[in-house]
This record gives sequence, structure tokens and C-alpha cells, in this order.
Amino acid sequence: MSIPEQVARLVEEAILPLGVEHFGFCPLEALSGLLDCRGKRLLPPAGSAILLLLPYYGGEFPERNLARYALCDDYHRIAGDILEEIIAPLAAAFPAEKFLPFVDSSPIPEVEAGALAGLGFAGKNGQLITPWYGSCAFLCEVVTTLPLPQTGPSAAAGCESCRRCLDACPTGALSGQGLEKARCRSHITQKKGELTPWEQKEIQKGGLAWGCDICTAACPHNRGLSLTTIPQMRENLVPVLTEENLPSLLEQKSYGWRGEKVLRRNLAILREDQHCKRDR
Ligand code: SF4
Ligand code: SF4
Repeated sequence: MSIPEQVARLVEEAILPLGVEHFGFCPLEALSGLLDCRGKRLLPPAGSAILLLLPYYGGEFPERNLARYALCDDYHRIAGDILEEIIAPLAAAFPAEKFLPFVDSSPIPEVEAGALAGLGFAGKNGQLITPWYGSCAFLCEVVTTLPLPQTGPSAAAGCESCRRCLDACPTGALSGQGLEKARCRSHITQKKGELTPWEQKEIQKGGLAWGCDICTAACPHNRGLSLTTIPQMRENLVPVLTEENLPSLLEQKSYGWRGEKVLRRNLAILREDQHCKRDR
């Protein structure tokens, strides 16, 4: 059995019992033109990334004031545990090699790497569109000194002439040129400090205390999604953040890193809007 086959077998044996179904390899050399200084400094040039898809769709709820990806327990922790399960057998099989887990804070451009690994294509909304979960999956990876062959890109079609996410974006943050963060509602809900009247209005119009699902919901690849196959992503789903449940969720959910103040501010902005509507 070749080294890549051995790695693929060990990864598969580790992830399938955890409900993770899809992974791919991307040599770091294929990303060299896309790496920032941190990536160039941190990463072994001849190494590779083993990328995993973690689907998060948890179903529909009668009421929700949080983006869909934020309902489950902190995906950083869930992904971190899954990556450790992969690293243990790999490190035992290849003791001379290095294996580093990354979730979110990755030095590699994950969407491009995911596409090169055959896990989907880069959508006009800036997300990786996968054939299995649309864009409703987290990407995480193990970066290793082992050279592994590229497993993609697949024959995924791409966005072609579709522009539904661009047309659906209510603030004009999304254009053919990429994302203008300052106009994105999701980014605004994460901003610290006092928000401008325009930013407050955008939170009220969106109705979410964290995130924005509009461009994700507009994408035809996100229709008819199945529930996540990862048991931990289906547990403890909390669709509504309130003043009361907030303290207990801070430690548990991914948005907790932003701190109580930002979340309470967003809830106050939404509450004020409801009062205004009642008084009208
Ligand atoms: S998350 Fe919302 S505001 Fe941001 S780009 Fe998508 S639709 Fe536009
Ligand atoms: S909505 Fe259309 S243009 Fe936007 S990411 Fe999905 S397929 Fe691509």
C-alpha cells in the first residue's frame, strides 16, 4: 500500500465512526501563490493539507435569531476533537512527520484548498459549495509534512451564470469582486463597540443577533439539505439567543468568543426594533 493510500485508510477509519464522510488532500505547493506571510513562515513547503468537511445543517425551527451555523455547540471544539482522532493514528504510523490541526485560524486559504482537494467549488458568495452539503459545512484540516497527491478538483460545475446570492444580498456587500466586509450584516453583528445608525438598522432588518443567512439561503445548492451526519452537531441546538440564556451559552457556543457585551448590544438593538413596531 502506498503512503497516500495508507493515509487515506487511516483518515477514513478515524472519521467514518464520527459521522464525517468527506475529506481530500491538497499539496501546499498548489497553494503557494495564495499563502500570506504567516502561511509561508509556518507551513512545510513540501507538505500537504488533509481537509475535512463537517456538515452543520440542523433542521428548521419555528423561531430563530442566530445564523444556522451558530446553533450547535462550538464547532472549534467539535472539529478539534475530530482532528485529534485523525492525528493520533497518523502520528503513530509516521513518527518522523509533523501533523498540525487547524480550525478557522488556518494559515491556508481553505476555500481554494477545499476546491483543489475535490470537495467542491469556490462560489460567488465566497463559500465552498460542496456536492453533498451545499455550503453548509465547516472546513478544517490537518497540515502535515507528508507529501500527498492532490485529490481534485472534481468536475463540480461552478456558479456559471447564477448570481442569486449577489442579487439576494440586501446591503450590496457581495459583488462579483468579492465581499465588502464593512457592509456585511454578519460582520456587523460581530463588530465591537458602538454601531452606526445604519449598522443598527441592518441588524434590525436582518432580525438576527448573530450572523446573516441570506446569501447562503439564496444558493440553489443549499436546497433540500439533509441533517448533519455528525452526532455532536445535532445536539444542544439553540435557535434563539435571549438575555436569559446568554450567560450559559457563552462557554458553549462559537459566538461566545466575541464576548457578552457584543451579544447583549445586538439583542438590545433587536428589542428596540420590536418596541418601535409595537408602538406604531
Ligand atoms: S451574509 Fe448577508 S450581508 Fe453578508 S454578504 Fe451574505 S447576504 Fe450579504
Ligand atoms: S447562489 Fe449561485 S452564484 Fe451564488 S454561490 Fe450559489 S451557485 Fe454560486
